[in-house]
Amino acid sequence: MPWARFESSKQFEQLVSTLRVLKSSHTMTKSSPECIFCKIVAGQIPSQKVFEDADTLAFLDIKPVNNGHTLVIPKIHVPYFYDLDNKNYAKLMQTVKNVSRAIEHAVKPAKVGLLVKGFDVDHAHIHVIPLNNNADIQATTFSPTDKQLAETAENLRKGIK
Ligand SMILES: [Zn+2]
Repeated sequence: MPWARFESSKQFEQLVSTLRVLKSSHTMTKSSPECIFCKIVAGQIPSQKVFEDADTLAFLDIKPVNNGHTLVIPKIHVPYFYDLDNKNYAKLMQTVKNVSRAIEHAVKPAKVGLLVKGFDVDHAHIHVIPLNNNADIQATTFSPTDKQLAETAENLRKGIK
């Protein structure tokens, strides 16, 4: 059978799905030698650990917005959270939720907010931040018109697979 001929569209979809898994496993490496967060996972750099399980780690940010500001990371090295496969993404967000509850209980902020920037360390991390008012992480630098908002939403809808 010629490799590029498919007997059904289902067969083709299965191949595409397999390729996606291969791509994501290629992106996800166990650790990166120069990565600060991989070193924290390995215990080579100290951190104030808040929670740890087989796949995720939560520790205090050393430059917190507020007291209790925690970073939650996957133990495997991936640059962006959207590089994680769905299973590891779900595990990461489960820890984010548990840490948020712990912050709410222990720190008693007005709200607990999430932030992902990704400029500082090239290893996926979610900031879990106790918030006392909107200005704590507010940064409005772009004021779009209604038309711009509509165009952007349209472009994003096209990009969702
Ligand atoms: Zn890393």
